Amino acid sequence: MVIKPKIRGFICTNAHPVGCGAVVAEQIEYIQGLGELGEGPKKVLIIGSSTGYGLASRITSAFGYGADTLGVCFEKPPTERKTGTAGWYNTAAFHQKAKAADLYAETINGDAFSNEIKAEVIEKIKADLGKVDLVIYSLASPRRTDPATGEVYKSTLKPVGQAYTTKTYDTDKDKIHDVSLEPASEEEIANTVKVMGGEDWELWLNALADAGVLAEGCKTTAYTYIGKELTWPIYGQATIGKAKEDLDRAAAAINSDLGSLKVDAHVSSLKALVTQASSAIPVMPLYISLIYQVMKEEGTHEGCIEQIGGLYRECLYGDNATLDEQNRFRMDGKETNDATQAKIKALWDQVTQDNFHELSDYAGYHHEFLKLFGFDVRGIDYDAEVDPMVSW
Ligand code: NAD
Repeated sequence: MVIKPKIRGFICTNAHPVGCGAVVAEQIEYIQGLGELGEGPKKVLIIGSSTGYGLASRITSAFGYGADTLGVCFEKPPTERKTGTAGWYNTAAFHQKAKAADLYAETINGDAFSNEIKAEVIEKIKADLGKVDLVIYSLASPRRTDPATGEVYKSTLKPVGQAYTTKTYDTDKDKIHDVSLEPASEEEIANTVKVMGGEDWELWLNALADAGVLAEGCKTTAYTYIGKELTWPIYGQATIGKAKEDLDRAAAAINSDLGSLKVDAHVSSLKALVTQASSAIPVMPLYISLIYQVMKEEGTHEGCIEQIGGLYRECLYGDNATLDEQNRFRMDGKETNDATQAKIKALWDQVTQDNFHELSDYAGYHHEFLKLFGFDVRGIDYDAEVDPMVSW
């Protein structure tokens, strides 16, 4: 099969196995290039391990610290006629590299919100690892089935309190236009908290502790985005922000409930960048195109692997953590500091349909977007026949 990108709106519906493999290899090389990282995790469970920040966490654990990794993700396998998802191919590539490096790697593909997958993971840990000493929670999902009731909850991306009109960039039509978003109802806010809040993170940690598979002093972190004024109306202070606030509650609850095991839970705030999750959020493609422009000029631009490499070295396993008043690890300072935000705001105010490509780094954004699916990767022949039936 010859595989070229099929873009529909904010998503690409296919993926290139060789390209995905090259992107995984690039991240591994980055982490290995950091040299000896010192004390770190030994046995790691990554929930949301196949793309974005979770994949970077898996790579950092395994290739930065030599840890055994058990991943959980929700990806589609390929068929003879249709490619698998990017996360599927990333996972296959990760397994291949881990095997070559003699590193333990197993992945369970299924709904992490369900009791069944939690039970399967626990059995796998018991059988292969004994206990885990780090649990990364990096799920991004638009819906969740409550395992207790079977009810399906959907998240909403809407402002809270009042309607909000702002600029957005339609990646499909190459158009800057205003978008007006009506405020969320109480039910929509509650449903978003149910999907993206801390309940499932807590359920995971409690299930792992009850099964006796958490090592004493186990660390755990869930990822959040806080941002600043430009994104607050649609993110930080919107439905998704309410869900993320619930992670702070969950971190405190985990630390208190699992105090006898000395579990150390923190929310980690990371910078905005292109992932499958962020490209679906209105305003983010425009905002990210502008921050890429500013941060590349400043020399502070980072991708998933640089952010996560820093999180492990400075916060999770270092003594250089920036903690905020909510006990969160802050890795987003290079984006959210006032000077950088002022430059982004100045561009934001000026940007129009006519000057968008000049003022922003949309070319960089689009390149990163294609790379998420294994496309636009240097050195890959996209006219060549490839076998989509890759697995691990
Ligand atoms: P992503 O879409 O790249 O990754 C999501 C992961 O979750 C994938 O591995 C996917 O397979 C898995 N997943 C989704 N639903 C699942 C389910 N039901 N069961 C099992 N696995 C499932 O997203 P991302 O951007 O890396 O986001 C990860 C976390 O980082 C999120 O909490 C997000 O809010 C946070 N974050 C993202 C950004 C950003 O700009 N992208 C910034 C800061 C924080």
